[in-house]
Amino acid sequence: MSLETEISRRKTFGIVAHPDAGKTTLTEKLLLFGGAIQEAGAVKSNKIKKGATSDFMEIERQRGISVATSVLAFDYKNKKINILDTPGHKDFAEDTFRTLTAVDSVIVVVDVAKGVEEQTEKLVEVCRMRNIPMLVFVNKMDREGKDAFDLMDEIEQKLSLRVTPLSWPIGIGSTFKGIYNIWEKNIGLFSNENKQKISESIAFDNLDDPELDTIIGESFAENLRNEIELVTEVYPKFDNEEYMSGRLQPVFFGSALNNFGVRELLDAFVDIAPHPQSKETTTRIVEPFEHNFSGFVFKIHANMDPKHRDRLAFVKIVSGKFERNKNYLHVRQGKNMKFSSPNAFFADKKEIVDESFAGDIVGLHDTGNFRIGDTLTEGEKMMFKGIPSFSPEHFRYINNADPLKAKQLEKGIDQLMDEGVAQLFTLEMNNRKIIGTVGALQYEVIQYRLEHEYGAKVSYEPISIFKACWVEVEDEKSAEFQEFKRVKQKYLAHDKFGQLVFLADSSFTIQMTQEKYPSVKLHFVSEF
Ligand code: GDP
Repeated sequence: MSLETEISRRKTFGIVAHPDAGKTTLTEKLLLFGGAIQEAGAVKSNKIKKGATSDFMEIERQRGISVATSVLAFDYKNKKINILDTPGHKDFAEDTFRTLTAVDSVIVVVDVAKGVEEQTEKLVEVCRMRNIPMLVFVNKMDREGKDAFDLMDEIEQKLSLRVTPLSWPIGIGSTFKGIYNIWEKNIGLFSNENKQKISESIAFDNLDDPELDTIIGESFAENLRNEIELVTEVYPKFDNEEYMSGRLQPVFFGSALNNFGVRELLDAFVDIAPHPQSKETTTRIVEPFEHNFSGFVFKIHANMDPKHRDRLAFVKIVSGKFERNKNYLHVRQGKNMKFSSPNAFFADKKEIVDESFAGDIVGLHDTGNFRIGDTLTEGEKMMFKGIPSFSPEHFRYINNADPLKAKQLEKGIDQLMDEGVAQLFTLEMNNRKIIGTVGALQYEVIQYRLEHEYGAKVSYEPISIFKACWVEVEDEKSAEFQEFKRVKQKYLAHDKFGQLVFLADSSFTIQMTQEKYPSVKLHFVSEF
């Protein structure tokens, strides 16, 4: 196959969902269609149970599983589909944000009873900002839940999306009969008897066909005709270009658990979802079909064996072809590297591969060279953009509890921060270190890993910080900036890249600071 054929048949996406909406179940059914797994239950849920906060074994188990499910690839209708795992747990939101920099589209899963939930709102917002094409799957139609039209309204309002249904439910919960596939004009009848069975569909070019009354009953048929009429009037017609540019989101209904409506979703997905897209670097925009390889690290995973400390860096290939044992430039470090055992990921295994193509993810063994956002090229000096850090939600001082292990501690912190477990801020005034995280759970993970992998002991101390604001100034010599630095001295720190950060203790402080020093711009993300 030519480079172009290989790249254009790749579709790399992530599933965005609030925990329990059905992400794992849907993933598993998608893999069944691809023939990548043979039975249900094969995909491990990578979830932290409620109350597991202090259960370190659980954390360890979690780390193992999330390597296993980081990337799941399968072939379907001659397309190579890569599903990137996006943890739904809010303490791992940062991980998910970064993974979203490596996908070319997403599927949003919404629970029909619970509607749009908090994590979904946050993650969809990130996708919207980047104009990522999105499909929506309304799940659990076999349960009682919200009216389809109400739910469409809720999705539009809470997620600020412009939706159009490509399938439509017939009944719900105990009266759920099936779905009308608007995209392919056929009806799928629901039977919850055999969950592994892939439902047959009956073609219906014309809903006025009296056959419909026979199949689903008069009142359901009548209702469906009315609803589809309304759907056609109310919602915009599907338009591929609008979907691709993130301005229109098709919606599907189904039940992942019953493997119902999933084929419709997948078939539409392989038809319309984008192949690998172009990506911006510090110097230019890189196109996927370029001959030369380029890619970036979006995730780093420590291996399970704590004695070895070796890690797996997940690289999204943006352009060209990646080859085993070929020399590539690690742009930030300015050094050439080659990789003798790059891993590619499949549904049930990872394997060493000789080549991978734009859209694919390769896992590179790393002994501490990589950090999130690093770029690999065939020699070109450019860095991919759009992998920012977000302001953490929690902050604590980190103290060394064993002075003899200062070196180990430094190395441990350094590597954990490279992995993106948390963010480190060093106060300008006294070099004290502050760890910022998205969730409280990370503090325990860090403490545990520092001790078990690096032999270092730490304690934490509370500090009252509301947000980390990255500082932007046009003129560093201006009197205004000098005064800002003097007055706010106690609250200024550097992130691990040396960028200046203002640690604000309240939203009021941020507002006052902006008013007082208008030329000093404060950002909640590290890239602006
Ligand atoms: P995740 O947290 O988003 O990965 O959600 P899971 O896939 O683990 O699903 C959460 C729960 O919802 C599990 O108990 C599933 O069996 C259940 N579930 C998933 N899909 C459906 C569905 O279509 N119908 C019903 N009734 N339950 C479902």
